[in-house]
This record gives sequence, C-alpha cells and structure tokens, in this order.
Amino acid sequence: MTSLTVTDIELTSLPKLAHGKVRDLFTVDDATLLFVTTDRISAYDIIMANGVPFKGAILTYLTAHWFSVLSKAIPDLKTHFLGLTPPPSVRLTAGEQAVVRHRTMLVRKLKIFPVEAIVRGYLTGSGYKEYVAKGTVHGIKLPAGLKNCDKIPGGAIYTPSTKAELGAHDENISPEQAAKIVGEKYAKRIEELALKCYNAAAEYARERGIIIADTKFEFGLDESTDEVVLVDEVLTPDSSRFWPADKYEAGREQESFDKQFLRDWLTRSGLKGKEGVEMPDDVVQATAERYREAFKLLTGKGLDEVLGEN
Ligand code: ATP
Ligand code: MG
Repeated sequence: MTSLTVTDIELTSLPKLAHGKVRDLFTVDDATLLFVTTDRISAYDIIMANGVPFKGAILTYLTAHWFSVLSKAIPDLKTHFLGLTPPPSVRLTAGEQAVVRHRTMLVRKLKIFPVEAIVRGYLTGSGYKEYVAKGTVHGIKLPAGLKNCDKIPGGAIYTPSTKAELGAHDENISPEQAAKIVGEKYAKRIEELALKCYNAAAEYARERGIIIADTKFEFGLDESTDEVVLVDEVLTPDSSRFWPADKYEAGREQESFDKQFLRDWLTRSGLKGKEGVEMPDDVVQATAERYREAFKLLTGKGLDEVLGEN
C-alpha cells in the first residue's frame, strides 16, 4: 500500500490530453482514455498547494462503486467506465505505476456536453441564496416559506449550470437555457438520466446514513450510437454535498462529509479565493477523515481493505 500524496502526474508513454482541477486525462488510443484522479483538492474553484492523501483512491473506488450500483438500478444507463487498470499495451515505469495505482480508471473517450447536470434534493448553497432573493432556484419557482437545507417539496429538481473553462466559474442556468446549449433532444435525456441517477443514489445513501443534498453529473455523447453516457466522477464528496442523516436538521447549515471543513477554514483565515494556499496538517487530516468516513458508509468497506484488494 502506498502512502504517497500525488498532485502532479506525467507519464512518459502517454500524451496528456487534459489537466483538470483534480484529474489528469491521458490518451490511450482514439477511443480510450486513462482517467487519473490525483490527490489535489480545490475549494471555491482554486486548487490548494498540497493534496489530501488517498483522496484520488477514494474518488476512484467510490465512483466505480456508484457505476455498479447505478447500472443495476437503471438498466438502460450507459457509463464511460471500462475498468480500473491501464491495458497491458500501456508501458509504465515502476514510479509511474506507483503513482497511478488506485487512482486510475480506463474510460471511453466521449464528447462532453458543456453543461453540468446538477440535481438538488435539498435547498442549500447557491440554490438557497437564489431562493431567498427571488423565490426560485435556477429560475424554477418553489413554494414560499422554505428554510435553509429543507428538502425540496415534490422531489429533487434538475438545476443545470454552464461548464466553465479551467479557472472560470460555472454559472447557474435554467433547464430551458441548458436545452439551448446542448439541443432539445439531448437536454431531455440528460435531465431524465440525471434525475434517475440522483434518486437511485439518494435512496441507496439514505439507507446507509447519508443524505445526498445535491450532486453534479456530467454526460458525454457516444457518437457511434447517439447515446447519452454518464461520465466523469460520480457521487463523490467533491461533486456532491453529503450530510450525516442522524444530524440533519432544517433551518441551519449542516455538518458534511465534503470540503466544507476546508471551505470554512479558508473563510475563517481570510484565504478564500487566494491562489497557492498550503493547508495545515490538521485541515488535511480532518478532510481526509471525512472523505474516508463517507467512503466507508457508502461502500460498506474501509479504504484500507479496498486498497488491499486492488
Ligand atoms: P470540475 O468539473 O470538477 O469543476 P474540472 O472540469 O477542472 O473540474 P476534473 O474533474 O479535474 O475537471 O477533470 C475531469 C475532466 O475530464 C472534466 O473536464 C470532464 O469533463 C472530463 N471528462 C470526464 N469524463 C470524460 C470522458 N469519458 N471523455 C472525455 N472527457 C471526460
Ligand atoms: Mg470535474
């Protein structure tokens, strides 16, 4: 088992296609990518100078777990997932193997729709702010009198945003605006799949003590079959708000299993929005703890056990 924290990855034998805030994508061939999740962590869209040990592994194995859960719950769901290891044709040095181990998914390379498919089951964050100001969430009218973190009456809603380039901020948009960006036909399918995935996942997580307040999916197009495919990471503490169900109470902010601890520390110390921030040890450890706990509740296995199996 490796204890190294990986924030930068270069592979001598594979060209890097893209460098996201957290992931590095390498081209295996025209149709396949090596999708490597580093231990980098971002908050308020800015990457911290240091990483969180095992975060890449947690996100990788949790995403793989969800792909399996969701594929069972939603029989017509297609995902980009091909496997957890690079194909034998990919030659990696021993050092590179150590770095990509536990952090890698082999995925189908797809054309990504430029919208973030956000689904909200609870009223919080930027959704709550808009509701307080205008009574709407992404332009969708909600009943009056809802409190911070209330469950959205009538079920989860689809609240897309634009997908900004690296360094820019996503913008909340209405489902109608999303349809203008991706086209009516694909927009409908994305919305349908996003809601199905959220509802299946929310039920699964609730039985395991976690409320998924909201989450963000991304979808791609398989141009050979014209199918909308679930891509990227799914239902991780990076892409979702996870709340401990036993401590949930509407009308106030919730404790969470995600980056809230880091965000609160940044705000408290006046470092919110600053580049190159080095997290102190206690913030790194507390964040790692929360990610690990969410992983264990959702997969039923400790991270060390899963690392040992792979
Ligand atoms: P975020 O979207 O989480 O705010 P980011 O866009 O900077 O951050 P990362 O999550 O670090 O990105 O990297 C993942 C990138 O890979 C995203 O741009 C995502 O759209 C893209 N991606 C995910 N799955 C695929 C796929 N199957 N084919 C091509 N690109 C993909
Ligand atoms: Mg991303």
